[in-house]
Amino acid sequence: MILFIIKIRKRTKNGKSVKADILLGLNCYSCKEHINDDPLQEFANRHPNLTQEDRDVFFKQENFRMCTACKRDDTLNEVTKDSKLSNFILKSKKYLYSKKSRFLPLYYIIIYFTFLLLDVFLKEQTRFFFYAYNVALFVYWYIIFKRIDLGYAPDDGK
Ligand SMILES: [Zn+2]
Repeated sequence: MILFIIKIRKRTKNGKSVKADILLGLNCYSCKEHINDDPLQEFANRHPNLTQEDRDVFFKQENFRMCTACKRDDTLNEVTKDSKLSNFILKSKKYLYSKKSRFLPLYYIIIYFTFLLLDVFLKEQTRFFFYAYNVALFVYWYIIFKRIDLGYAPDDGK
């Protein structure tokens, strides 16, 4: 746990936040690099009479995009055996970026307390819940860490 906090501190101190850019599709969600074309411009081309409302819609949506390099890697992975794993990693990245995963840590903290209580009551019978709540707690911290970590990219600009 302390290790996670140290890592997060290091990340947020030396990195720049890219989460908003990734959600808008300005940056690649796989490698966090900036994508050269401008999705707002593309969006404007598709909607010739762009109103402020359309713009608001654009800035609210989750528009995950991959850069050409990552797309190529992904296509390459499709033909190799790693495809399942890399697909899973990509999908979980997308999931952790998206608003859908907001409550995920909450679920794990509920599981944690449930197992903790079960352990208190069933200590004499089984040690299972002792390990189970520790795993749940670890997963909880890991998700918190990962969600912050994904939002930052190393700042190599200045
Ligand atoms: Zn990329």
